[in-house]
Amino acid sequence: MIRLDNVSFTYDEDEFPAVDDVSLTIEEGSFVVLIGHNGSGKSTLAKLLNALLIPTEGDVWVEEMNTKNEEYTWDIRKNVGMVFQNPDNQLVATVVEEEVAFGPENLGIDPAEIELRVTDALEQVGMSEYRHRPPHMLSGGQKQRIAIAGVLAMQPNMIVFDESTAMLDPQGRNEVLEAIENLKEKGMTILLITHFMEEATVADRVLVMDKGKVVMDAPPVEIFSRVEELREYQMEIPQVIELAHELREQGISLSEDILEREELVEELCPLL
Ligand code: ADP
Ligand code: MG
Repeated sequence: MIRLDNVSFTYDEDEFPAVDDVSLTIEEGSFVVLIGHNGSGKSTLAKLLNALLIPTEGDVWVEEMNTKNEEYTWDIRKNVGMVFQNPDNQLVATVVEEEVAFGPENLGIDPAEIELRVTDALEQVGMSEYRHRPPHMLSGGQKQRIAIAGVLAMQPNMIVFDESTAMLDPQGRNEVLEAIENLKEKGMTILLITHFMEEATVADRVLVMDKGKVVMDAPPVEIFSRVEELREYQMEIPQVIELAHELREQGISLSEDILEREELVEELCPLL
C-alpha cells in the first residue's frame, strides 16, 4: 500500500530533519500504530504519506504513485484519508450530512452516489441518527466520528489518525477507538498515531519514532517487552506492562506477552 525509501524531510529554517532517513512499507489491510514522544516526527511522517508534504530526500510511494508527481496528488489524497487531533478544526458544514458529503462533492461525484456513500459512512461510525443535526452541537467523540465518516465517503484505502483521540474524554476516546476497530475488521489499512501507549496493544505492528527515525518496528508484544528501550525513547509505559516488567526483574516468573490487566491478574493469582 505504502512504501518509503530513505525518506527525509526538513522544514524550512529548521536545522535538523523532522523525518530522518526512514524506509518502511505498510501492507494493505494492516493496523499499524505509531508512537513516539512530542516532536519525534510522527505528524510530519503522516503528512508525507498523503502528499501534504513532499520529501526533501527519498521517495514515498502510495499504490505505486510517487507523491512527488503532482499529477497523482488528488488520487493520493483520496487514497490516504487523514483524521486530525482537533475535531473542531476539521468540520466545515452546518449539517452532519453535508459535512460527510463535502469530500465526494469536491471530487465531482454523482449526487445519487454521494447519497449512498453518506448513508453508508454514517452507519459505519454509528452516527446515522445524527444525520440532520448541526455538527457543532455534538460531543467531541461524535465530531471525530463525523470527521471519520467524511473521510470514508471518499472511499480511501487507508486512513491515518493523527492523535485523533488526544482531545477527547474517555467516553469519546472509546467511541472513536471502537469505530477504528470496526474499520480494521472490514479490512481498512490503518495508521494510528497516538501517545496513549495502551492503544498500541491491538495493533498488528508498532512503530516507535525518536528524533525523526523509526527506532523500533515490531508486534506489540515484542515492543512492550523492551521496557528499558522504551524508557530511553521517553515513552510512558502503561502501568500493567511496567508492573509485569518490575515483577519479572524481581525474579517472579511471568510470561512476556502480558499486555492487559486481566492477563496479569490471571498469572499473578495462582502465584499468590
Ligand atoms: P510529533 O508529531 O511527533 O510531535 P512533528 O512531526 O510535529 O512531531 O515535529 C517534528 C519536528 O519538526 C519537531 O522538531 C518540530 O518542532 C518540527 N516541526 C513540526 N512542524 C513544523 C513546522 N511547521 N515548521 C517548522 N518545524 C516544524
Ligand atoms: Mg504530532
